[in-house]
Amino acid sequence: MESPFQQGRTSTRASTTATLLQLIGTSPPTLDTAHDSFKWALTTSGSFTVKSTYDHLVNSLVGDFPKRLMWNPKISSKISFFMWTAYLNKILTIDNLKKCGNHMANACYSCLRAEESTDHLLTHCQYSHVIWLEILPHSGWCRPFPDTFANLIHGWVSKGLSHVGKIFWSFIPTAISWSIWNERNRRIFYGRTLSSYDLNIQIKTLLHFLVSNTYRDFKTHLDICVFSWDSLFV
Ligand SMILES: [Zn+2]
Repeated sequence: MESPFQQGRTSTRASTTATLLQLIGTSPPTLDTAHDSFKWALTTSGSFTVKSTYDHLVNSLVGDFPKRLMWNPKISSKISFFMWTAYLNKILTIDNLKKCGNHMANACYSCLRAEESTDHLLTHCQYSHVIWLEILPHSGWCRPFPDTFANLIHGWVSKGLSHVGKIFWSFIPTAISWSIWNERNRRIFYGRTLSSYDLNIQIKTLLHFLVSNTYRDFKTHLDICVFSWDSLFV
């Protein structure tokens, strides 16, 4: 019969044994008469808490996931869920529907010049690109456009903006993406379109609503927000 040591020499068991030895460390527990019991390693008390699990997931497993931008508690969960699925390239664009086995022609309803995908629709489409350029503040900015929507979210930094500008900045990706998605659905399901100018006004109005609802001290009138947009960021 194999000794426990010999069993541990098989490749799978060797790695398990190594992990166990690592956990035990240089101060193995001493033998006593107490019964074995489970201990939760993420708390000092050894008791399980949801908070410790959440913190562990957020801080280690999720890595550099842009959680603050993606799961802003001031934004409705429906819109946050859309942002999350868009970031993961899981929204129901035509290319993703085709991957699920649907047989359909693929064309972007906003420009009719390329196939519809998350990155195209939300980032590179001619129509969407104009929206992004109109919303991004113009003074002092020279911003290369990322290759993917996920990279756009990752590179979304508010350095050098005014206090009010930083507040607006944190809502801009969500407001633009959600509005472009709604415009896309309006075109497909209702046959109606908004010009990029009209959508631009709608997005600024939405941003004003979000910021006003979030920060009660924000008193800037909607007119200034819409027609003197750049002044908010300097
Ligand atoms: Zn397009």
